[in-house]
Amino acid sequence: MSESLWAPWRIDYILGQKTDGCFLCAYPKPEAEARRAENGVLAVLPHAFVCLNKYPFAAGHVLVSPRRHVASPEELTLEEYAATMSLLRECIVRLKRATSPQGLNVGFNLGKAAGAGVDEHLHGHVVPRWAGDSNFMPVIADVRVMPEYLQDTYKRLRPFFEDLA
Ligand SMILES: [Zn+2]
Repeated sequence: MSESLWAPWRIDYILGQKTDGCFLCAYPKPEAEARRAENGVLAVLPHAFVCLNKYPFAAGHVLVSPRRHVASPEELTLEEYAATMSLLRECIVRLKRATSPQGLNVGFNLGKAAGAGVDEHLHGHVVPRWAGDSNFMPVIADVRVMPEYLQDTYKRLRPFFEDLA
């Protein structure tokens, strides 16, 4: 017997995609500033920004992205690349302070074949990890708690990113 999936946050996400096009382009725009908390945007810089991943592998999973819509690092100017990598570095520092992880996964998936969910707009993943946290995954993947979970995570992490913008 299969269970029906109740996932309003997923519906919101899909509708959001249709309305806004590329969410990695839309989230840091000045006209979306009022929705930054709702969108999980932690910091916006001139060439790069960071937001929560709405499909986290572990608590505190963030995405670091250049502002420009490019698929691969070599398409960025060196200034944009440096800004993105510098922000990635800051995310590691701030997630360590905020969540005291025992380890972190840091990386980029380029192309669908490499596992990129959104393959048109480059983004790096920074994921704090704790020994045995695979047991935590079914809890945070519970679709019924996801919106609250994301807002709680946002409130907890945002102070650690405030001085970046
Ligand atoms: Zn984009």
